[in-house]
Amino acid sequence: MKREQCFIAGEWVDNGAWIAVDNPATGAIIGRVPAMGREEARRAIAAAAAAMPAWAARPAGERAAILQRAAALMLERADALAALLTQEQGKPLAEARGEIVYAASFLQWFGEEAKRAYGDVIPAPTADKRIMVLKQPVGVVAAITPWNFPAAMITRKLAPALAAGCGMVLKPSELTPFTALAIAEIADEAGVPKGLFNVVTGDAAEIGGELTGNPLVRKISFTGSTAVGRLLMEQASRSIKKLSLELGGNAPFIVFDDADLDAAVAGAIQSKYRNAGQTCVCANRFYVQAGIYDAFVGKMAAAVARLRVGEGTSPGVDIGPLIDERAVAKVQRHIDDAVAKGAQVVTGGSPAPDGPRFFAPTVLRDVRPGMQVLEEETFGPLAPLVKFDEEGEAIALANDSEFGLAAYFYARDIGRIWRVAEGIESGIVGINTGIISTEVAPFGGVKQSGLGREGSRYGLDDYLELKYLCLSLA
Ligand code: ADP
Repeated sequence: MKREQCFIAGEWVDNGAWIAVDNPATGAIIGRVPAMGREEARRAIAAAAAAMPAWAARPAGERAAILQRAAALMLERADALAALLTQEQGKPLAEARGEIVYAASFLQWFGEEAKRAYGDVIPAPTADKRIMVLKQPVGVVAAITPWNFPAAMITRKLAPALAAGCGMVLKPSELTPFTALAIAEIADEAGVPKGLFNVVTGDAAEIGGELTGNPLVRKISFTGSTAVGRLLMEQASRSIKKLSLELGGNAPFIVFDDADLDAAVAGAIQSKYRNAGQTCVCANRFYVQAGIYDAFVGKMAAAVARLRVGEGTSPGVDIGPLIDERAVAKVQRHIDDAVAKGAQVVTGGSPAPDGPRFFAPTVLRDVRPGMQVLEEETFGPLAPLVKFDEEGEAIALANDSEFGLAAYFYARDIGRIWRVAEGIESGIVGINTGIISTEVAPFGGVKQSGLGREGSRYGLDDYLELKYLCLSLA
């Protein structure tokens, strides 16, 4: 399953130059992938463009059947795929398996949605006209994906693209390319035509330059940092490509004094510590109402102290390694800055002894506005707890960010639930839950968290163009 070649124009190929891939838990090299560049990206784009018309012309039901076969293959191989994913990404095996099932769900879902790309007939303004709207595939799509969800971030783009009738070139993260290449193998086996889906690994800036510059590419779908998203948007502006951008977050998690505290702690743990805090919808800052602040701090610290740190393959592990040592240094920097400005470590607070990329799950109390940890996405196992007094203050604090991907809050009062849900500036709001990701719901952000929605019936629209037909009967 561990392919060490790229998949271009339906062939497994390399160019003799290599990038080493390591296991973040141990630092051991687990394999290598080709270091490709502009030339190979161009070839992959041409292959996708050549394969696309025949694919788009096939009945939606045929495209659906192939996507669903790919979903079934992923599920059949879930254990092996999960092991590969944990080896290159680090997350606990149970989470990796959960991600494979989640990734397969997009193939299944968009297989279903492929058949529902309905058009419209619009009542015309004059008697001699008829107005219709068709939906057609947007064209060749270039996808660039991150390392934190090496499987799901790919199928969330690939499935709607193929369902709509598009071809695709994918550049996965150089840190986690093997899961992407395994997905290419599955797509090939499931019957995706040669050339329609290509995976190119290598120099990000060079491949990205070709993907955003090549006129055959009509859309860029990117998940990653806001800085790279901004750069891709700028590059794509020259040829006015469509963009779906799923960028950084800084999710607030608010606990009101009428919340069920135990449920709030359980939701906080799920939202904050999944994937060791390395998801773009992870709670990044906690606002807890004054009346229950101390009680929440105590329960949260106790629950966090029970989390087990270790290699993702060890049974019972909750927190695996961070992706690299830079990530560890960032968590430490946020703690040091907060402590220097008056916060206190309640549990954790330092790297874990398991290896250079492990960090102990941490809770900070007495965190206040102005500390870095509230302003930047930590992307690690650190929960900063801020005290607030009033509902309006909590909404204002939550909205005091250039990001707006996910937000969470716990409350029981129904009026408050509506006021806060409507007042929060984010694309996703979890109310009395810390888990919001599912293929059936639209995932995406407002403000600098991005453009477009992935998953759900809306997710297909991002890969379709509307064509308006005006027919004169005269
Ligand atoms: P993260 O901080 O999550 O690693 P990045 O935005 O750096 O997020 O990476 C997300 C994806 O973007 C990866 O596949 C990475 O290789 C790619 N990437 C990084 N820099 C560029 C670039 N200049 N052009 C195109 N892709 C890039």
